[in-house]
Amino acid sequence: MRTLFTGLFAALALTGAASAQDISLRFPVACEIGRTCFIQHYVDHIRDSGVADYRCGTMTYDGHDGTDIRVPTTGAMKAGVDVVAAADGKVLRTREGMEDVSITGRGRESVENIECGNGAVVDHGNGWQTQYCHMAKGSLSVKSGDVLKAGDKIGQIGLSGMTEFPHLHFTVRKDDKVVDPFVSGPPTKSCESRGASSLWDESLKSSLAYQPGSVLNKGFAPGPVAMGDIESGSAETNTPTTTSPALVAFIRAIGLKGGDVQILTLFDPDGKALAQNKAEPLDRDKAQVLLFSGVKQPSGGFRPGLYRAIYRVERDGKPAIEQAFGIALRP
Ligand SMILES: [Zn+2]
Repeated sequence: MRTLFTGLFAALALTGAASAQDISLRFPVACEIGRTCFIQHYVDHIRDSGVADYRCGTMTYDGHDGTDIRVPTTGAMKAGVDVVAAADGKVLRTREGMEDVSITGRGRESVENIECGNGAVVDHGNGWQTQYCHMAKGSLSVKSGDVLKAGDKIGQIGLSGMTEFPHLHFTVRKDDKVVDPFVSGPPTKSCESRGASSLWDESLKSSLAYQPGSVLNKGFAPGPVAMGDIESGSAETNTPTTTSPALVAFIRAIGLKGGDVQILTLFDPDGKALAQNKAEPLDRDKAQVLLFSGVKQPSGGFRPGLYRAIYRVERDGKPAIEQAFGIALRP
């Protein structure tokens, strides 16, 4: 752990001097944090080898220079989620016209030097700039030279540039150096106390509290569910009835850690456990995981009523995540 800490301090020293708080940021996406959008990755604070987010966790990847704000499904992206200016400023430059296509399959080379996709850079004065990446084709509503107020629409979340899932990559820079908006002021010794002071507006402090893992999607299906069905959003609309061949609770979680134990339990309307899936401890950190727990239809069909599921993640023997959800089965 010693190298990790030393590295973290070294990286912060590069940007820490620049983090004097003379800017306050609003959230750059018009969404409800923890419900309609989630932080998938933070800034990587170790620039040479290894990774660490600002709390010494692993919700980042090597060299990541921004904050990834993810929407739960491609369906949500298609419905339209606005990207907005984080502070008053002037648009420096934009790019438009790139297709919304995941790099899965077509390769990273296809977006070389245009990794940001459809994007914009906004200048806020005093050396502060913010960059907005991966927006949807045709969604940009600003051009270079436009003067913006904090909260003005820039575009919409998309899938352009180097990305595999719909999200906004948001980078903050001061005098051309990357700054983590979750950290402000000199570094503290304890990982847990980092982020107490940040560049985010005071009103965002509780909703942006560090989340070491989140539930992106949850629901019930009438049979097996594929990742594609969850990503597209179709799994949410294909809900089971009393005559479905099966009743399957599903969950997609992000940001889990190696060693995490996940348990998904399905309960009948009387509160009796029908099925339980206790997964093997994760062999390594996972950007995202799927878990199911289900039963086949009993002869004569499922009894009408409220079925519930509880998802629990245990980390180091302690509860880290718990989510309960339910569905009323009708004929
Ligand atoms: Zn990113």
